[in-house]
Amino acid sequence: MILAHGGAGSRAMTSPQAACLRAALQVGYHLLDRGTSALIAVEQTIRVLERSGLFNAGKGAYRQLDKIRRMDASVMEGDGLRAGAVASMEGIVHPITAARHVMEATEHVLLVGPMATKFARHFKIERYRQPVSSSRLSYDAMLRKFQRSNETGDRHGTVGAVAVDQAGSVAAGASTGGIDRMLPGRVGDTPIIGCGVYADNETGAVSMTGWGESIIRLAVAKEICERLRSGKTPASAVREVFRRLVARVQGSAGALVLTPKGRFVIAHVTANMAAGWWNGKGEPTVKDKFGY
Ligand code: ASP
Repeated sequence: MILAHGGAGSRAMTSPQAACLRAALQVGYHLLDRGTSALIAVEQTIRVLERSGLFNAGKGAYRQLDKIRRMDASVMEGDGLRAGAVASMEGIVHPITAARHVMEATEHVLLVGPMATKFARHFKIERYRQPVSSSRLSYDAMLRKFQRSNETGDRHGTVGAVAVDQAGSVAAGASTGGIDRMLPGRVGDTPIIGCGVYADNETGAVSMTGWGESIIRLAVAKEICERLRSGKTPASAVREVFRRLVARVQGSAGALVLTPKGRFVIAHVTANMAAGWWNGKGEPTVKDKFGY
């Protein structure tokens, strides 16, 4: 079983995004069907979304206020609780693959900034050129613009996936270009283990999307997993955590949650969440509104 998302927010999903999510779910599920690990299925599913340029990740990542795209990603597997993440990475098509390399080739969990980019280049992960903007603001002007603006910022398109493999192991991943309006260097929940993603074979796998600052303050992914541990269903675990997210920090988010037994929920407190799932039967289900 595999679940994937393309972000939660006010906008409806476009048909190219829906087609891309379906294709990504097919790639992931076929790998699981051949006995591949949930970790690789999650990575490959996310790579399809990063490469498409249709989402706020990889080639389609948003720009920070200095017009530079800086991306964050993370992966985690539920057997050994291994995790890897990158933040503020520039010009790399597949930050999710860099995150997997951090997990597999180092003893670290998180690499950031130019050194994360250098790490990705070392592993020969495909690059893209960032167009140089002619209208650079001074830092002072940028900060003033940021402080003055009261935009709520509700564009979305972060991508993520969770999967369970034939051995009953779960994995989670996510990849993003951040939010609408960000100071250079801003990092959200996506690369922070326990906030944007979590995976534990004793509980389940979670991949989050939404307003990262609110998700971090409640460590949402881990909170959901701890409720699964105490015997809650995925739907009631998410319901409880989302209720707190909204009440305590006026948060906004969407989640994919999957247990090692294949129980799952796709849930959001936003108007829409572009997401879907597939268990190999019929066609993948992809839509942008989920009740739970
Ligand atoms: N959670 C991401 C962030 O705050 C954005 C999103 O999911 O759309 O960076």
